[in-house]
Amino acid sequence: MTTTQALHDAERVLWRFSLTAVSHPDPCRSPSRVASSPVAALEFDRIFDCMIPPRNPTRAVAVGDCVIGAGHPIAVQSMAATRTQDVPATLRQVELLEAAGADIVRIAVDSRKDVEALAVISEQTSVPLSVDLQENYRLAELVAPHVQKIRYNPGHLHHHEKNRSVRDKVTFIAEVAGAADCAIRVGVNCGSVDPDKLDRFDPTDSISPMVASALQHCELLDSMGFTRYCVSLKDSDPNKVIDANRRFAKERPDVPLHLGVTEAGMPPDGVIKTRVAFEQLISQGVGDTIRVSLTLPFEDKGEEIRVGRGILEDIAAGRFRSVPRFESKGLNIISCPSCSRVENEAFIDLAHRVRDVTRYASDHAITIAVMGCRVNGPGETDDADLGLWCAPTFVNLKRGPEQIGQFSYDEVLVRLKEEVDGIIASR
Ligand code: SF4
Repeated sequence: MTTTQALHDAERVLWRFSLTAVSHPDPCRSPSRVASSPVAALEFDRIFDCMIPPRNPTRAVAVGDCVIGAGHPIAVQSMAATRTQDVPATLRQVELLEAAGADIVRIAVDSRKDVEALAVISEQTSVPLSVDLQENYRLAELVAPHVQKIRYNPGHLHHHEKNRSVRDKVTFIAEVAGAADCAIRVGVNCGSVDPDKLDRFDPTDSISPMVASALQHCELLDSMGFTRYCVSLKDSDPNKVIDANRRFAKERPDVPLHLGVTEAGMPPDGVIKTRVAFEQLISQGVGDTIRVSLTLPFEDKGEEIRVGRGILEDIAAGRFRSVPRFESKGLNIISCPSCSRVENEAFIDLAHRVRDVTRYASDHAITIAVMGCRVNGPGETDDADLGLWCAPTFVNLKRGPEQIGQFSYDEVLVRLKEEVDGIIASR
């Protein structure tokens, strides 16, 4: 029996269990009783073989006691949306996520003070922690002893020490991760792709540079003998997430994939976009861990985990709700889930108010991006018709890549509405 066949058979058992477990909420009708029905089992096997391809034969990557890849249950993770140095608030979000069933929780670190806070936080939680390294890749050395996984963004390795090669920087991260028994995620993001890759492709093709960047970093890590890594390719457009991950998985079916639609926005739209991407990928055997990224009030953070598990259960039960493509024909609001980089907590409220004041334009194909900070806000609003990104005391308003001006958190809504009216009138 081949490894692929063995994985497919193991997967069949898991899916059959999931199907029967979630299809029959009646506690008297246990999964084992359903599975023991020969007719039901045969029918399930027939449908399974027709519809569900095996999961990709990815490597096992241990993140603390959570193993992703190699047919293990798809891990559900999320990220604290707090300033990491606010230890009580960050711990509260970790608790909320853990209570909702998170397998891994991510925290952002961008300074030595963040690392000091991380050390305190890691002492007080048992859930495996992942850290998002921002531009300062050297912090990996300080971070690694406190966490089980380090995420670096290939597009951010160009900001510091410009004379040092990318290979050297990746070697540094891999060595400290290896010494501290940590996994790595190579996290490629549409808004911050390696500039060397962008230059090599047609500017209208945003997927090829992302895939090329991910493949390059896999080769780098492999060549160093570091194989305990996974990859993510994220975009706010679920169709691009589907295309990028499919293309990557075809080239590297052995590398576990972390799936997510970045800046998916608020429920219900953010949930729908995420569901479309996950349904299309996971049903094709692509994806080993997921993150649902929603703009939510502080105490509702666990909802990201609950939504993720709900989508996985539905896929396992064959309850698909997506059409093959996510065709947004009306108003499309994308907003980031917020994180430690948000400098004004009014951001969450702003995102919800943007949705409220633009509701009247729901039939118009206009994309509005609302971002929480100056690090990713300027770049990730470029492709939207209108973009808002938050500074501590004002909001930047953009029309595509062009800056319109800076406005207070209240004034910007009035100006935004004028811009929306202008776009509608011009069509
Ligand atoms: Fe965090 Fe800024 Fe990204 Fe929002 S845009 S999630 S605040 S880094």
